[in-house]
Amino acid sequence: MNENFGKLTIVRIGNVLTYSTLQEIGKRILEAFNGIITTYQLSHHETPVTECIDAYLLTMVLHSQYSGHTLGITDADLKTQDEDEFYNIIIGGKNPRNDVAVVSTRRLSPKDIQSNGDYKLLLDRTLKVSLHEIGHNLGLTDHSAYQFASDGSLCPMSKGEFNKFGYQGYVRAIVDGRGAMFCDDCESFLRIMYGSRRCSIEGNNVDDANASGARKF
Ligand SMILES: [Zn+2]
Ligand SMILES: [Zn+2]
Repeated sequence: MNENFGKLTIVRIGNVLTYSTLQEIGKRILEAFNGIITTYQLSHHETPVTECIDAYLLTMVLHSQYSGHTLGITDADLKTQDEDEFYNIIIGGKNPRNDVAVVSTRRLSPKDIQSNGDYKLLLDRTLKVSLHEIGHNLGLTDHSAYQFASDGSLCPMSKGEFNKFGYQGYVRAIVDGRGAMFCDDCESFLRIMYGSRRCSIEGNNVDDANASGARKF
């Protein structure tokens, strides 16, 4: 485990999202993990055009290339080794042996992106799945029950039951229901684990965050 979570590398694999969209996602990740993740950098990873990428392999490639806390966003499907075909395409995942999380936009995207609204929906969904996977990187666990943040939307760590919905239904019921704020349980976990950084920093003062020094644990 890499102890330095403060800096996140966001790697675009494929071209579905524009550079400015990735900046927006990076900015909102910093807001959600205020004081814990304090800077991000964007990068682009060239791969052959492909419909489907092995999720585990992708995390290993990104780990060897970028190391540290990394979020890969791809427009290809992410495949896992799960025997059950129903479960072997995932919208997001993380490798427990390193700090690399990956998200696929393929099943998050509306069928046709025709309006700004469609594109915003894709951005929001990508952000919400990213927050969930980064949350795992920081030690948060799934909520099997629906758990709400104080703004009334589902905590990003809410998982729900996938097999009740299928992909499209799941995205609409769970991913769209999530917000960008964590519930009280997740907040207190983050405060215990990353205490002084989480409490003392208001806004996005990156310099202060860097200067705040060592983490409690
Ligand atoms: Zn999860
Ligand atoms: Zn939560």
